[in-house]
Amino acid sequence: MILHHVDGVSTALSSERSQGVFDPALGVVTKRVVLANSADVQTTVEAATRAFPGWRDMSWANRQQILFKFRELLNARKPELAAIITEEHGKVLSDALGEVTRGQEVVEFALGAPHLAKGEHSEQVSTGVDVFSLRQPLGPVAIISPFNFPAMVPMWFFPIALATGNTVVLKPSEKDPSAAIWIAELLSEAGLPNGVFNVLHGDKAAVDGLLEHPNIRAVSFVGSTPIARYVYEKATAAGKRVQSLGGAKNHMLVLPDADLDLAADAAINAGFGSAGERCMAISALVVVEPVGDALVSKIQERMSKLTTGDGRRSCDMGPLITHEHRDKVASYIDIAAADGAHVVVDGRNVQPDGDSNGFWLGPTLIDKVPTTSKAYLDEIFGPVLSGIRVPSYEAGVALVNASEFCNGTAIFTNDGGAARRFQREVEVGMIGINVPIPVPVATFSFGGDKASIFGDLKAHGADGIRFYTKTKAVTQRWLDPSHGGINLGFPQND
Ligand code: NAD
Repeated sequence: MILHHVDGVSTALSSERSQGVFDPALGVVTKRVVLANSADVQTTVEAATRAFPGWRDMSWANRQQILFKFRELLNARKPELAAIITEEHGKVLSDALGEVTRGQEVVEFALGAPHLAKGEHSEQVSTGVDVFSLRQPLGPVAIISPFNFPAMVPMWFFPIALATGNTVVLKPSEKDPSAAIWIAELLSEAGLPNGVFNVLHGDKAAVDGLLEHPNIRAVSFVGSTPIARYVYEKATAAGKRVQSLGGAKNHMLVLPDADLDLAADAAINAGFGSAGERCMAISALVVVEPVGDALVSKIQERMSKLTTGDGRRSCDMGPLITHEHRDKVASYIDIAAADGAHVVVDGRNVQPDGDSNGFWLGPTLIDKVPTTSKAYLDEIFGPVLSGIRVPSYEAGVALVNASEFCNGTAIFTNDGGAARRFQREVEVGMIGINVPIPVPVATFSFGGDKASIFGDLKAHGADGIRFYTKTKAVTQRWLDPSHGGINLGFPQND
């Protein structure tokens, strides 16, 4: 049984419910995870609340030493974490290791937090008066994460939350909960005091409990758009600071002057890596004619060489997360075909290198998908690449900007002027220019636009520091005999 990690202890608390955790490459339940009830939420938030004053008051230097030790342990032992991710999520080992490395970048960024969280100081704003600002931690904060990045998404948030002096309750996805526990134990090994980082497993009951709890001061959520919207509305109504990142439908626009081999490689990598279960996956391939046929045939040729199978066997692509999700993704192939699209490669015919019970769906390419089809409009979140032909750059940008989701996008071109126009005109949060998965490095902030994010501050980078700190402005005057006296007027500067 996978237990909670609360106040430094592995415990079932009073949880009576549990849920099976699958190995998606085997198609069987290999573990179970406890699911929190409302009393468990209370116990966990109390632990984070008790730990807060001590952690807040610890010097920057001492907090940084613990995070530095955590970084060293993580760097040395990350293959262990990658193996856990592959076992429960299914993504291939090299991809799981890549996920951990990108998360580690945020730990390294957080080691610079003392510099980034510095306040400002203005001397002599009025005669004998100085003003300065401070940044202070918020208190206990909640992080609620999705199944598709069980290590990286929590790492977008908790290193910065901890570095700036907050305590954390992480509610990971119940589909792949073990990565969070491994991280919690490593943080303890690095010397993090008990109660500063807690992992509470669960489903809607745990999430609702955290959103309602008065001691939780801020919520960082990542998941699908309907739940992101729900979390944002519920938590802001409860007076909390919220950043809530939702779903995606990312377009790759290929102009006729692009290097089509580069574009074909990029479409494969961004469309089928992690079986398309990435919020930055490319799912809509928008090609400006007349190069559509040439690009589709280059992609088809590359797809014939891809291997799908158990992530522990050096395949290119692993299984989907659950049987239900696999069937839902596959159903979009029929929807697209019924709407008049051309199924170029049908992933349902894949011969996997893995157990026959695994949740397999091979890479799928559908061309000439009507933009009215649900196969184009919905977030599919699987290895299905939909080709759309457009007559011009303008038509391509109009399509991108009409999308409900605006997380990431990419343009492939050798025309710098067109790329510059694209970066200015497109209403999307993260843009790649000849880069298919433009996940910004940790020093910049991660987040989309429109229905891909609710809230003003994005993940990590400068926004991460702002999100996890509150500011105070101090106006200070040390007594000077020449500035005494009574004056009931509004303070003015002289
Ligand atoms: P999900 O929305 O089903 O679950 C996310 C979290 O919300 C989980 O911890 C889950 O337990 C909880 N949850 C689920 N249903 C809930 C409910 N009714 N009430 C309260 N909490 C609930 O998402 P998922 O399937 O785990 O992850 C895939 C989704 O996440 C995709 O839509 C993907 O695009 C999105 N995602 C977005 C980003 C981003 O940065 N924008 C990054 C990764 C994933």
